[in-house]
Amino acid sequence: MGRYTESKCRLCRREGVKLFLKGDRCYSDKCALSRRPYAPGQHGRFRRRATQFAIHLREKQKAKRIYGVREGQFRRYVELAKKRKGVTGEALLKILERRLDNVVYRAGFAYSRDQARQLVSHGHFLVNGRHLDIPSYLVREGDMVEVRPQSKEKLRELVKGASERRPLPGWLSRDLEALRIQVASEPQVEELDQSIETSLIVEFYSR
Ligand code: SF4
Repeated sequence: MGRYTESKCRLCRREGVKLFLKGDRCYSDKCALSRRPYAPGQHGRFRRRATQFAIHLREKQKAKRIYGVREGQFRRYVELAKKRKGVTGEALLKILERRLDNVVYRAGFAYSRDQARQLVSHGHFLVNGRHLDIPSYLVREGDMVEVRPQSKEKLRELVKGASERRPLPGWLSRDLEALRIQVASEPQVEELDQSIETSLIVEFYSR
């Protein structure tokens, strides 16, 4: 399966919101969306009025792009969320938050989710003491994620810089000396990304 290799900033411009896909650059005045706040392409400046379908589609695409998940996997997450008790949209976001690459990013061990995914797939992390290089692994309450001993010196500076930029969500705790993340609980509803209208996504897959 292919990987998206085009400009990430085009994705933000397509969705019309900052998706924070490039780490530090997203917070600087170099952000492409700040410079060119319209959709990419020849007709990007001339947006037609969105249909209901387009509104639902765009919300789904936005969530997929924020978490860097491809269509098949995203659809599986939606199916999984439907089986959970409570509000399906919230369950979907909780599942996305529990991805190992997202946990590494949220804990401030990487500047972006893309970088977190690369660090995980390059084998720099242990989960509960075992080597794990699957970015889509869903962590559980009580899991311990840590940088493997051989990678600690290499990643220490990176973690120091990235962790200064990111407030830690309440469901995670971290030890920056030991380069360790503890999953204290499941993600809390009030900490989920409020910019994503999950009801539109659930409706999109219920058509
Ligand atoms: Fe999006 Fe701006 Fe970051 Fe580019 S720099 S990925 S446009 S938020």
